[in-house]
Amino acid sequence: MQDMITGLIHHPYAPPEGFHAPQPGVFKASTVIFPNVAAMRSREWKDKTGYTYGLHGTPTTYVLEERLATLEGGLQCVLVPSGLAAIANVALAVLKTGDEVLIPDNAYGPSKALAAAELKDWGITHRYYDAMNPQDLRDKISAKTSLVWVEAAGSVTMEFPDLCELVRICKANNVLCALDNTWGAGIAFKPFDLAPGTGQGLGVDISVHALTKYPSGGGDVLMGSVVTRDANLHLKIKLTHMRLGLGVAGNDAELVLRALPSIMLRYRAHDMAARQLAVWCQSRPDFAQVLHPALAGSPGHAHWQALCDTGGAGNVGNAGNAANAANAANSGNAAGLFSVILKAKFTPGQVDAFCDALKLFKLGFSWGGPMSLVVPYDLASMRIAWPAYLARGTLVRFSIGLEAVTDLQADLAQALDAMAASR
Ligand SMILES: *Cc1c(COP(=O)(O)O)cnc(C)c1O
Repeated sequence: MQDMITGLIHHPYAPPEGFHAPQPGVFKASTVIFPNVAAMRSREWKDKTGYTYGLHGTPTTYVLEERLATLEGGLQCVLVPSGLAAIANVALAVLKTGDEVLIPDNAYGPSKALAAAELKDWGITHRYYDAMNPQDLRDKISAKTSLVWVEAAGSVTMEFPDLCELVRICKANNVLCALDNTWGAGIAFKPFDLAPGTGQGLGVDISVHALTKYPSGGGDVLMGSVVTRDANLHLKIKLTHMRLGLGVAGNDAELVLRALPSIMLRYRAHDMAARQLAVWCQSRPDFAQVLHPALAGSPGHAHWQALCDTGGAGNVGNAGNAANAANAANSGNAAGLFSVILKAKFTPGQVDAFCDALKLFKLGFSWGGPMSLVVPYDLASMRIAWPAYLARGTLVRFSIGLEAVTDLQADLAQALDAMAASR
């Protein structure tokens, strides 16, 4: 007679097939069970024909991968435990000792840190280029260059490069081009079709995305994706992915799947609120510069317009703010981030007092969640050179959440008063 606990573990009940609901099921596994030895021996994990081990995919992660590939206009996708892991997965898949990787000087900071430490230790060199000067990229590509990173808009300083030109330079030199597409999120522009309707087929080779941000939307998940349109390149990335053990958990995949249907609405809402607040900041005397690619006068605005404001965006707008909506470059898509440079007369201590005085804006990294966030940056320590298009002063980046714009604006106003009163 079999023990009850054995019967519980090997329970024979299987629910009926044919269950359908708005969200896909959540499958969780390390072990995947094979029906027989032959199936175990002939297992294949390189494509989605079956299941082998939790690390290599479950129905839940397959579904999320396919949806993300669709979002970005790609054909293949791998999921990794963070956006930074996506960057590392790409680097380790395509770079080898003796190679060089070119990284924009305004890239996501930890991507530069990876190049400066692990990649360097493994004999992979890196150089930073000025993303706002395509000639600088042209000049820095050499026979050693195997990978070029691009990012639009730039991290923290929000300048928008001529992405099409940067990608054309990579193509002309036969160098792989990988985009950190976290800002665009597959919504602001299509990374694999940057010049739609021209028949140029202009696109990046690889798009990485910190799903931690807009796809998750909650500030409570860490995940990244690597999307491609080339089966061989995907396989290379997937092999590295397997050897490094970079799987994601079913519950985390579920959270992203649950948030994905509302990504367009959330992205647009963050975007509209950020533009209204950026325009308001422009009207304030405290700031030397407001950095937001959708604002006329912001570095790279014309490139943003050409790529992200092609007239196709749904003007969801904000019903309560018709006046702003009418004038504040309300078309196109631009995420929910912007930065300000406080006038040089404010000391770094006063800028800290400004950030500390904010009540609704919380001090914290990352973005894409419901809560507005603020980070003061020491730009001089982050760049090889202070770009000529940036005013001097302390930079503060805002990530706009989903709170009412009027409340956020009032919070900024009272914190500016507190800063003025501080010393
Ligand atoms: C947040 C972010 C990442 C890294 O994502 P994590 O999931 O936090 O590792 C990469 N690139 C950009 C542009 C980001 O904003």
